[in-house]
Amino acid sequence: MAKPNRDNRNRPNERRPGPPTGAPSAQAHRPAIKSRYDAPGDEPMATALRLTLQEPFHIERELVHRLERRDVNVKEAFTLRDASGSYFRASLRDLNPDGGLAVPYERMERSPEPTIDITLACSVLARQRMIFVMQKATELGVTRVVPLLTDHSVPPGGLEHERANSWPAQVVRAAKQCRRASLPAVLPPVTLDAFLESAAFTNADECVMLDDRSDPAPAPAEPPKRVVLFVGPEGGFSDAERARLTGKARPWMLGGRILRAETAVLVGLTAVQMTWGDFVR
Ligand code: SAM
Repeated sequence: MAKPNRDNRNRPNERRPGPPTGAPSAQAHRPAIKSRYDAPGDEPMATALRLTLQEPFHIERELVHRLERRDVNVKEAFTLRDASGSYFRASLRDLNPDGGLAVPYERMERSPEPTIDITLACSVLARQRMIFVMQKATELGVTRVVPLLTDHSVPPGGLEHERANSWPAQVVRAAKQCRRASLPAVLPPVTLDAFLESAAFTNADECVMLDDRSDPAPAPAEPPKRVVLFVGPEGGFSDAERARLTGKARPWMLGGRILRAETAVLVGLTAVQMTWGDFVR
């Protein structure tokens, strides 16, 4: 495999966040709330071509709107997979409705894409901390984030104040920053009951609930491929919610200290990736 090209003169501008991108509503869940808070995910960017470093390649028409969704402007960098399965960083040189031109300048040493499907089901946290959650969950390799409306979460009427309409843009910026080729989905805020009936929950082969009040249960024998991680709000899950989750989600205890909910998100996702995902030990 060729060594990555470290020549800075050929590197495009890696950081230049543009205006927030909006996106149409995801269809997978029945939204409880106005759909402007959600955006569908997107598969890793890929080309059917075999790429060679420094050799310009044509951008297929199909990739144009996907680059636009990622807020990639001319002279900026993006990540894509080529026909050999290798991931490259490429500099966008031209983009028009019919296609464009880009130059690969670095072969990535490993795939930036997560190896398992992770759904973060996080109660909507107050004080705009879901913005942090969206950013960090993207960096930590989730496939989708489900903002949960639970007994002690921010209520639907508080979403505007939480800047929920900026959540899809937070995911786009974080994906750009961490060089993911895919975009995680941001699902519409839903109640716990609605989420428990959704495909994101019923298709999972392992569900974990971070809970400082339950006894931990043994891990599954087979490593799961589709994991749901529940994180409660500042006040925790209510007794009624914990009863509804009993038997549906395996409790995980993160030591004897009570973590802030956003800390629990970071640690919980790290634990999932360390146990079943792509964190290499
Ligand atoms: N349960 C407490 C309560 O009712 O006030 C604290 C809630 S804690 C601030 C918010 C969320 O973070 C919890 O619902 C849980 O999902 C997670 N969490 C915090 N500390 C944890 C720990 N030590 N083990 C497992 N989960 C934890």
